Amino acid sequence: MNLILLGPPGAGKGTQAKRLQDRYGIVQISTGDMLRGEVAAGTEIGREAKAVMEAGKLVSDDILIRMLGARITRPDCARGFILDGFPRTVPQAAALDRLLAEKALKLDAVAELRVDDGALVDRIAGRYTCAKCGAGYHDSFQKPKREGVCDTCGASEFIRRADDNRATVIARLEAYHRQTAPILPHYAAQGKLRTVDGMAEIDEVSRQLNAILDPIAA
Ligand code: AMP
Repeated sequence: MNLILLGPPGAGKGTQAKRLQDRYGIVQISTGDMLRGEVAAGTEIGREAKAVMEAGKLVSDDILIRMLGARITRPDCARGFILDGFPRTVPQAAALDRLLAEKALKLDAVAELRVDDGALVDRIAGRYTCAKCGAGYHDSFQKPKREGVCDTCGASEFIRRADDNRATVIARLEAYHRQTAPILPHYAAQGKLRTVDGMAEIDEVSRQLNAILDPIAA
């Protein structure tokens, strides 16, 4: 099963993608994580992307389309994938259509997590992850059971993304509405767009997603 998760920053795409990965045995492809990996490794792409990401803008379509094309042909994608953070522009959506057609792959569904902009700045500005296993936490909404200790793996180091500050979040939301939201009609026209309530509790969002995807996966 091949899926796209769509929604503004902070909508819960990463959290839900990890759950879908476990439930359906398909791989999460986060282009944001891939780019952060390039930045950390100091590659040419990373050097180009760093300032753009810190400004809350989008990295060039060319780079992303090349990266994604290489990623979806890796063997771990054989059972399917969840795209988290791609496509983010109309040209990326068109390139994805071409890539999938070339590889004789089918897109099964596009799930949009719909949320109010007002809630997003607080959601994002408080979030952090375990440095070891990547489990996600939040200063107000999802604290670890024992302060300073990851519930999942017991590690005690955490990281915050450089672009999870208020000023950058506002720029990222603006980029979403201006450049990403216009791809929604593209998938609606293909009959693949399904919308879930991203304002609901995490488990309720999962329930809504599973109700849509279980029949497709069966
Ligand atoms: P994310 O982790 O999905 O919030 O992505 C973090 C940042 O990486 C974004 O704000 C963009 O600067 C960049 N990025 C990730 N995916 C894409 C994409 N598909 N196209 C352009 N830029 C991207």
